[in-house]
Amino acid sequence: MKTMPQSSHKNIFPVYIQNDKPFCPVCSHEMKFLYRIDRFCDPIFIYRCPECCLEKQHPFAEHQENHYTEDYYSGKAEYSYSDERKQLKFYGYVWKARLKNIQKFIPPPADFLDAGCAFGGFALEAAQTGFRAFGLDLSEYAVQHAKKAGLNAKIGELKKGVYPENSFDVITMIEVMEHLPDPVSAVKTLSEIIRPGGLLVIQTANFQGMQAKREKSNYHYYLPGHLYYYSKNNLTRFLNDHGFSKIIFYPGVDFGLLPKLLKSRGNFRLFRDYLKWIRISIYHLISKIAFGNFAMTSSMVIYAFRDKN
Ligand SMILES: [Zn+2]
Repeated sequence: MKTMPQSSHKNIFPVYIQNDKPFCPVCSHEMKFLYRIDRFCDPIFIYRCPECCLEKQHPFAEHQENHYTEDYYSGKAEYSYSDERKQLKFYGYVWKARLKNIQKFIPPPADFLDAGCAFGGFALEAAQTGFRAFGLDLSEYAVQHAKKAGLNAKIGELKKGVYPENSFDVITMIEVMEHLPDPVSAVKTLSEIIRPGGLLVIQTANFQGMQAKREKSNYHYYLPGHLYYYSKNNLTRFLNDHGFSKIIFYPGVDFGLLPKLLKSRGNFRLFRDYLKWIRISIYHLISKIAFGNFAMTSSMVIYAFRDKN
């Protein structure tokens, strides 16, 4: 195995793996080089599957959990997570709206896991709604906080043995799928731990949307910690192949404009910040323009139901 140069960024990339040719986890075709992206400390290399158009970063670091330290959550890392703890009230608007939609399919009480729960805010909101809520995250730092906040959370990866079979009625993965280094192991695990008829909610970018197609390698979703880049079609196919045949696709998000506008106020300091509502509203309306394989933006949420047999 060849070893790639080590990162200058806090030495979080001690070992690179997969220097062999990358193969697509959705359809097994050999993936082809697409872009080299140079806007980070270290370049990242993107490959694409010629058959299903799944994209991946290749190679990537073996120990992905090393990304998710306090620096990642507090905005000190090269790229980071917007810290929900400072704006719980504002995040609450979209969490409540999403839970309202989930309840149309799986009403509480039911066993609910937020996989990639970070500080646990969304799962705790689910508990408020009446779900028996649990959290799972790779980050020791985040899980410690989630536990202190009162969530039944554990540190771990979505892989075999993390929970017993048929443990959950709902699993949510909000901006998590793109971080997973082994999607096949993750989706197999999901199909085992979700009960028949249960619901999997995935929010990630849709790379067949116009936004990603237009911006190409400049698209902001290309980030060092984002390892796979899905689309409506290849994610649907991947889920179908692993026991989720009923799929609902939401262009944009699975809730309305108002919760988004209310959440954005958390960052507003000046009266003129309210002008941002124009941009947010336009984006929201455009994101709803989608038919067949066409979508104007690259935001999507997929609801996938575990087969009953
Ligand atoms: Zn493929």
